[in-house]
Amino acid sequence: MWCPKCCGKTKVVGTTTGTQNERFRTCLVCNYSFSTIEAIKFDDYWRDYAKETFESPFESQEPRAKENK
Ligand SMILES: [Zn+2]
Repeated sequence: MWCPKCCGKTKVVGTTTGTQNERFRTCLVCNYSFSTIEAIKFDDYWRDYAKETFESPFESQEPRAKENK
């Protein structure tokens, strides 16, 4: 992961784990701190994972879109 400010190399200084893993990073060049979220790339199991971990974006948005019309 590159620094969003200067594109320098970064190191992980902390991690919180849960349904999503967050990593706190610091740039080795400019000392800028930021955090990243580890997420699953889309695959066949992702829909089931999404249903178990949070309200599915697919099923919650479709009825609302129809109500607005
Ligand atoms: Zn930097």
